[in-house]
Amino acid sequence: MKSGYFGEHGGQFVPEIFMNAIIELEQAYTRYKLDPSFTQELKELLDNYAGRPSRLYYAKKMSQDLGARIYLKREDLNHTGSHKINNVLGQALLAKKMGKSRIIAETGAGQHGVASATGAALLGLECEIFMGQEDAKRQALNVYRMRLLGAKVHIVSSGTATLKDAVSQALREWSMRIEDTHYLLGSAVGPHPFPMIVRDFQSVISLESRAQILQAEGKLPDMVVACVGGGSNAIGSFHHFVKDSSVRLIGCEAAGKGIDTKETAATLTTGKMGIFHGMKSYFCQDECGQIAPVYSISAGLDYPGVGPEHAYLHDIKRAEFVAITDDEAVGAFEYLSKMEGIIPAIESSHAIAYVRKVAKDLPKDSLILLTLSGRGDKDCAAMARYKGEEIYE
Ligand SMILES: *Cc1c(COP(=O)(O)O)cnc(C)c1O
Repeated sequence: MKSGYFGEHGGQFVPEIFMNAIIELEQAYTRYKLDPSFTQELKELLDNYAGRPSRLYYAKKMSQDLGARIYLKREDLNHTGSHKINNVLGQALLAKKMGKSRIIAETGAGQHGVASATGAALLGLECEIFMGQEDAKRQALNVYRMRLLGAKVHIVSSGTATLKDAVSQALREWSMRIEDTHYLLGSAVGPHPFPMIVRDFQSVISLESRAQILQAEGKLPDMVVACVGGGSNAIGSFHHFVKDSSVRLIGCEAAGKGIDTKETAATLTTGKMGIFHGMKSYFCQDECGQIAPVYSISAGLDYPGVGPEHAYLHDIKRAEFVAITDDEAVGAFEYLSKMEGIIPAIESSHAIAYVRKVAKDLPKDSLILLTLSGRGDKDCAAMARYKGEEIYE
């Protein structure tokens, strides 16, 4: 495969001004990923600070209820409450080794912003976060958290004032200050080498879960299921199973109000090939090929593109991508809370909803590995509102 590409997807579609920075990043990463002192230091951070390895939990009641054997990979138990910290600690440590003193990052709901501010506080880096005005309004508590952790938060009001605009602004900011700044991209998207770097740092999920499920069940799962926004928790969950052709890999996108409406973020189900944010991949586009405004109840899945490796796995039919509506996700949010006493992130609830939907059609006792990408505390007020109840803090 051509370097920096997954099939025909990926690449480095960036203005000349970025080339030095991404070449520097690729060279540094190529060097440090093989450096035992780097990998050891990262492992210690992941274990002692983030709380890895994360548990693989057999969801007994849910399994009985649905007639399958369902294991949850508990990324919700990580420090800061999601898988995002895996990538943040990797990239923040890399930035430090590269001699950078400042990181910048985009954030949608604020999960990646909070994780980045956390990693920066831990490693003594300056941190500036770009967040759309709409998102900042919806997630005021996360804005406060980032500031509390010592980060400067810039509110972005261009475009739809959401995640894609925050990414665009962070890229612009990076082009202006490349010498001392690392752009800590939060998902498996953007120009090469970001999709590879983020995939590698998140692949700790399947490195652990493959060993854990073999230990628990003595065999590989029949399917691995994860939600897909840009695709980082999903590619991390899939990575060490890609060569196991018996294992179905299933990515759950946000259908929003339905894939036949304009209020959707189901990129692989409804998108077309295009180039945006430095990569060739699938994107939700309007009739003229402009990036479409997307919608999902879940801010973490509300992105009009998808990482190039998922686009490739889709093309070669190695992974399957399904679209789950807001209603189905909210149902799953309530279901897991009552069934297992675990409040899942609304993003992760898309993956739970898929398992709920298909379990009855699978061979009995199918072995399912389901990634719980994050915890749902952040979503409670919005879920109550969705159900017509107002909550006051
Ligand atoms: C950010 C986020 C996602 C979506 O991002 P991916 O890169 O697709 O993983 C999913 N779940 C949670 C809990 C998140 O915070």
